[in-house]
Parts: sequence; C-alpha cells; structure tokens
Amino acid sequence: MATRDIILFGAPGAGKGTQAKRIVAHLGIPQISTGDILRAAVRAGSALGLKAKPFMDLGRLVPDDIIIGVVEERIREPDCQLGCLFDGFPRTLAQGEALDDMLGRAGRNVIVIGLEVAEEELTRRLSGRWTCPQCQRTYSDPGTCTVDGARLEQREDDKPETVKKRLQAYREQTAPLKDFYQKRGRYRAVDGLGSEDEVWRRVRKVIEG
Ligand code: AMP
Repeated sequence: MATRDIILFGAPGAGKGTQAKRIVAHLGIPQISTGDILRAAVRAGSALGLKAKPFMDLGRLVPDDIIIGVVEERIREPDCQLGCLFDGFPRTLAQGEALDDMLGRAGRNVIVIGLEVAEEELTRRLSGRWTCPQCQRTYSDPGTCTVDGARLEQREDDKPETVKKRLQAYREQTAPLKDFYQKRGRYRAVDGLGSEDEVWRRVRKVIEG
C-alpha cells in the first residue's frame, strides 16, 4: 500500500489543529502535532518539557535539534509506517530538510496543504481563542468542550504580546518553507477563510485529488 504523508502548513491560528482532526479521521493516519507533544511534555515536567517551556512562553520556536529529535523518534513507531499528518512541523528550513531526509530514506515523500489566512484575521482568531485541555479542539468563546465536556482554557501563548511574537516567528522562520515546497512542486494552497466545514471541503478535494 502506498504511504500517505501530509504536512498541514500555515500560520498559528490558520486552523491547522481543527483540520488535522478531520484529515486523520478521514485517512486513518496518525497526527503528529509538535505543539501538542511539547505541551504534554511541559505538563508532565519531563526533560523535554523543561527545555521547551522557556521558548514557548516567549512565543519563540524551540531549537531545531530538539524538535527534529522528537519527530525522528515518533515516526519510527509502527503506527507511522503507512504515513502521517504533520501539524506544526516543519517550521524552519532546517526542519523541512531534515524531514525530507527522514522520509526520503524510507522512499517516502510528502505533500503540503497550506492553509492561507490573512494576518489580521489570525490575530483576531488567536486573541479570542479557547482550547479544550483534553482534545485540543479550539473555540471562539469560553465554556465547555462539545466533544468531551472539559472546561475550555486560554493557552498561555494566546496572550496578545505572545501572539505578536508567534506571528513574527512565523513570518521570519516558517513562511520561507512555502517557497521551499513550491519549488519542489509539493505545495497546495487552500483558502483558510470560512467555516470549518467549508475549509474541510477544500482540504478534502486536495487530499482526494
Ligand atoms: P503550536 O501549537 O503548533 O502553535 O506550537 C506552540 C509552540 O510550541 C510554538 O509557539 C513553539 O514555541 C513550539 N513549537 C511547536 N512546534 C514547533 C516546531 N516545529 N519547531 C519549533 N517550535 C515548535
């Protein structure tokens, strides 16, 4: 069976987490979200969490060698052998090159779905974002998660000053990856504006096309 590797690419607030859930349910591949892995490590107080937390609190990227090590280990697991969905990774050119190497060694390559959303809309979304601490689904109002009933929380790094820093990190360090994948003919742009269902219809067209 052919492997299926997909990168869900886009700025913070573009809707990656939400669409990631739909893609993995549709294709039956695991989701590798480096942000979720890091937040779990911070909650657990592990060595990884202790290293990552100061960067995350400032809205900065965690160093490449740490993140690449995490992903390398994760994709060696049996559930990743037929492909996976990368959410929030790669975020720098060095990470993109490392991922190409890791997958290339196994004869795999990846397509990139780029969720495109204008920056004013990203700021608006992130500043009013509420997250379920259990399943990481996001909402635009406080309350409880409609899926598992947990009380929604605001992520530390969704505070306005940190949001600015995260968008700056995206512009400076992550956005150049679009060109990297476009040159390799692997980038598929998807308009990220609209309801969850509308965006999902566009995403599904790409993964089925
Ligand atoms: P996210 O939930 O994907 O927005 O990630 C939250 C935070 O985790 C980011 O602001 C970074 O500090 C860190 N992070 C997540 N993924 C990466 C990555 N691929 N490279 C570097 N830092 C990351």
